[in-house]
Amino acid sequence: MNYEDTVKRAEKLRKDLNYYSYRYYVDNENDIDDYEYDMMMRELKAIEEEYPELITPDSPTRRVGGEATNMFESVAHTVKMESLQDAFSFDEIRDFDRRVKDAVTNATYVVEPKIDGLSVSLEYRDGVFVRGSTRGDGSVGEDITANLRTVRAIPLRLKTDLPFIEVRGEVYMPHSVFHKLVEEQELNEEKPFKNPRNAAAGSLRQKNPKITAKRKLDIFVFNVQQIDGHSLSNHKQSLDYLKELGFKTIPFYTEFKNIDGAIEFCKEWENKRFDLDYATDGVVIKVNPLSCQREMGFTARAPKWATAFKFPPEEMSTKLLKIENGVGKTGAVTPVAILEPVLLAGSTVSRASLHNFDEIKRLDVRIGDRVLIKKAAEIIPKVIKVVDTPEHNSLPVYEPPALCPECDAPLVTREGEVNLYCSNDLCPSVIKAKLEYWVSKDAMDIDFIGPSIIEQLFSLGLVKSPVDFYKLTMDDFLKLELVKEKSAANMYNSIQASKERPFSRFLTALSIRHVGKETADIIAGEFSSVEALMDASVETLSNIEGIGDKIAQSIYEYFHNPSNIEMIVEFKKLGLIFENNIQTRTDELAGKTFVLTGTLASMTRDEAAERIKAKGGKTSSSVSKKTSYVVAGDNPGSKLDKAQNLGVIILNEDEFLKIIG
Ligand code: ZN
Repeated sequence: MNYEDTVKRAEKLRKDLNYYSYRYYVDNENDIDDYEYDMMMRELKAIEEEYPELITPDSPTRRVGGEATNMFESVAHTVKMESLQDAFSFDEIRDFDRRVKDAVTNATYVVEPKIDGLSVSLEYRDGVFVRGSTRGDGSVGEDITANLRTVRAIPLRLKTDLPFIEVRGEVYMPHSVFHKLVEEQELNEEKPFKNPRNAAAGSLRQKNPKITAKRKLDIFVFNVQQIDGHSLSNHKQSLDYLKELGFKTIPFYTEFKNIDGAIEFCKEWENKRFDLDYATDGVVIKVNPLSCQREMGFTARAPKWATAFKFPPEEMSTKLLKIENGVGKTGAVTPVAILEPVLLAGSTVSRASLHNFDEIKRLDVRIGDRVLIKKAAEIIPKVIKVVDTPEHNSLPVYEPPALCPECDAPLVTREGEVNLYCSNDLCPSVIKAKLEYWVSKDAMDIDFIGPSIIEQLFSLGLVKSPVDFYKLTMDDFLKLELVKEKSAANMYNSIQASKERPFSRFLTALSIRHVGKETADIIAGEFSSVEALMDASVETLSNIEGIGDKIAQSIYEYFHNPSNIEMIVEFKKLGLIFENNIQTRTDELAGKTFVLTGTLASMTRDEAAERIKAKGGKTSSSVSKKTSYVVAGDNPGSKLDKAQNLGVIILNEDEFLKIIG
């Protein structure tokens, strides 16, 4: 290759590598395999080693990290990197709206999630990334160009050679990266970072960019600070333009004509944020037209045209009043923290999970302690630690109970398990918990019968085992408190209807140890009838993919226990069907993963999942690059946004029905 060709080749490699890197880190698309990418990178490095004059600032080889520095030079921000005034309630957002209306007319709002990371400035001359700096005190920051180059989502070259642009973005560490980093730090006996924000800060201010490069930081760009060679008239337009230039812009930004829409957005994201792979601590509301922004101007501390709504905290401390021990369907005794009520992430919390007695011992939780509790969406609040107080040491150490809180039978441990179990096979708590599970959505899905009805049926001696549900008459229901003809009929009918549930539901409902919904599905797919399953040996069972020895042993024991066999015989007499129409199963959708979100008009989500499984497909609860389809019904959740972001195929109900026939 002559020199001229080498120059051309280097140029082509730079362009291609930057393009694939953009596709991967910004679009989440993998167009090229890693090996091919590495080979191109190696070739470019070799050229640059031989001809150092061919190294350009936008060369992807610069991303791996240059030389370590002892000092960061300071950078004076021409345009101040302002902080925003906070709003802690919707009333304060409405106050902001009033101030806007008093100052300007026809203002619309643009809202966007507030990323909890580190604010940085990025400067581009003639389309090339030339300098990046921290926010510092807003007026003067530090030059961290070498470190920022290692952030793959930061373009080294823009898609147009704009004379000059300075943008502002938030650098963050994705949760998934953070968890791995902490794990590694613990393994190496280093002091782990406290949270993703600290980890991102520590990584950005690394003296050695090679370390920063390993930390897999990411960025969302959310503002144009200065621009030359292009004019913009509103904030939304500038975000659209940033996207065009090749920046990874803040996601989910939306324009609203009035403040009500903005407030709805805040409410929505208070919960949706927990589905994201990065931390958000609020929502930023900005006046959209730049002319209005200019007209409103600044206070001494912040722009008047923007406000940051802060989400209520996810963690709070409160007093532990007592520990209540409940007995579940497996007989396991689980401790629950009873707390002084506290407002947490928008709701009042007075109970929190303590997992098991080992956890209480590990955290050294004592009754009377102040404890820190944490809540995430759709997750039961849990106690995460004891707050250091002078009182803690004078409180008695918590001793796990020795007897069952329900029946006073001694509690026992089981080999290899941390829980304590009630030793009484006929413990009323265990029986009631099994009955409650029997009627639950995951199991036989019997409507109109909840815990209080079960409590009454049990105490009247009408139901002692699931078999008894199917022997109940209308008259039996009328014996219950406050139950009239109509609800008696509802209960009776829904019990009868449950006789038609698929084999897999029935297997789930039996509460066989180690057999949950997923395992029951696998087993039901392998046996055509309950008899065939009862005849199966441990070997046959453990040969099924997804069924380990422990599960196989547990199933075998269950179906060789005389009282269980008797129960199955009774179920059959009462008209329950335990057969499986295996032949209707196909593998048309083998290898396809579906994620369901929102409400479908023609079926429940569970039914949809069963239809997918019947065709050999799989369902998952979260969207990733591996998801084949997201089925979006009415009022879809944030899974839809995630699917859009990842470019996953989205099906509406009609399209979905066509696929599953
Ligand atoms: Zn008991």
